[in-house]
Amino acid sequence: MESKETKTWARIGPAYLEELLGVLSARGIDVDVEASTLVTPADWAARGLAAGTPFSAAHTFAQTGPFRPRNLPRRHGNVVLAGCGTTPGVGIPPVVLSGKLAAQRVTGR
Ligand SMILES: Cc1cc2nc3c(=O)[nH]c(=O)nc-3n(C[C@H](O)[C@H](O)[C@H](O)COP(=O)(O)OP(=O)(O)OC[C@H]3O[C@@H](n4cnc5c(N)ncnc54)[C@H](O)[C@@H]3O)c2cc1C
Repeated sequence: MESKETKTWARIGPAYLEELLGVLSARGIDVDVEASTLVTPADWAARGLAAGTPFSAAHTFAQTGPFRPRNLPRRHGNVVLAGCGTTPGVGIPPVVLSGKLAAQRVTGR
């Protein structure tokens, strides 16, 4: 059975796409769409991603940099985290930096 969120995205997803194309057109950018694929949070949720986000914890100021979950989880010893779910945040540059920070935690350097 479809969840409420899935039904909501099925309704607002295509409408949002139309609005986006309308805004582009209003700004002088006419897009001649031959083929399109619309991906919404419902698609991410169907792939098992929590809360329908592909970005781990949401990409907000309050969950970025020092505010993101620590790479040394408080309740678990001998574990070091790396990746977009921990400090410093989402995106390839922060994730590479996260790996460096994790390696420094492990080696102590
Ligand atoms: C649509 C989209 C567009 C993006 N665009 C940009 C962009 O333009 N620039 C930018 O800098 N960043 C972008 N990002 C963000 C960037 O891709 C991510 O922040 C980054 O890839 C996260 O890296 P990661 O190593 O933490 O996780 P991932 O790259 O997701 O790697 C995790 C890996 O672990 C594997 N895995 C998961 N569970 C298990 C398991 N149980 N056992 C074994 N393996 C497992 C997964 O298959 C995956 O290969 C984008 C992300 C998305 C979704």
